Amino acid sequence: MGQLDVEDGEVATLKNGVKMPMLGFGTFRIPDGEEVEHSVMSALKIGYRSIDTASYYRNETGVGKAIADSGLKRDELFITTKVWVSEQGYEGTLSALDKSLSRLGTGYVDLYLVHWPRRGLVKDTWKAMEKIYMEGKARAIGVSNFLARHLEELYSSLDVEPAVNQIEFHPQLYQGALLEKCKEFGIQTEAWSPLMQGNFKDIGLLKTLAAKYGKTEAQILLRWDIQHEVVTIPKSTHRDRMAENAMIFDFEIDNGDMELLDSLDEGRRYGPNPDVMYE
Ligand code: NDP
Repeated sequence: MGQLDVEDGEVATLKNGVKMPMLGFGTFRIPDGEEVEHSVMSALKIGYRSIDTASYYRNETGVGKAIADSGLKRDELFITTKVWVSEQGYEGTLSALDKSLSRLGTGYVDLYLVHWPRRGLVKDTWKAMEKIYMEGKARAIGVSNFLARHLEELYSSLDVEPAVNQIEFHPQLYQGALLEKCKEFGIQTEAWSPLMQGNFKDIGLLKTLAAKYGKTEAQILLRWDIQHEVVTIPKSTHRDRMAENAMIFDFEIDNGDMELLDSLDEGRRYGPNPDVMYE
């Protein structure tokens, strides 16, 4: 039991028609080697098909090994990786992707993201992202941690629009205006730290809603993403939690409770502020 029925998992259709699972598996802070191999293998066995990594996580080799050992076909999987801040610029981005592909042991990624916007480098980096896309080394390209003003800067000159914006997103950092902006641009929003990095245990409303729906607080948080049409990528190194986090497609939070969850917003970040990283 506890298996994720892949048929039940919903998919988002990106603006170029590529299908992306609404639920993926996050790997930040899972060390390379046995630990990440074991975690990714467990996630794949449970039924996760989308894996999120980054060159910055230094675990792409282990992610790639788990994928190879899983016996799954490459086209059954959705692999995301990202170009780090210090790798950006035109040549730097091209070379970073090639290194990521080599560590992952794959000829292409499903989604390649600019990890953070970087002042002075947004446009050159994006030119390289477009080349990567045109050459088929990424089935979709996107950004991460782009606020509205970073999106405006990017949109002032581009040929290929970003398909995804991966941002910190949870009820304490709802960012309704940014979500709307992404919708306007046809960009799929994806939530990082959807479980507030585990800091959700003292939130009374979550306890109440968990009891009401017969679900866990983590499942309420992840379902909230899905109902906002936001892709979600919880991380866990525990098999039982991975399975728990996947059981979010068999219930619905009603509109009133969605609004109550939205109202937990206090602009609270558990990760860095994109404006600080931009400088
Ligand atoms: P999450 O919000 O996914 O929280 C992970 C924490 O929650 C871990 O401590 C985990 O512990 C715990 N946890 C997981 N499931 C449960 C559960 N069911 N009940 C109780 N605790 C639970 O944090 P992340 O920061 O890892 O975000 C998810 C992913 O987003 C990352 O792994 C990464 O892939 C991506 N990310 C992207 C960023 C970006 O800049 N683009 C920045 C940060 C993250 P345990 O492992 O012990 O189970």
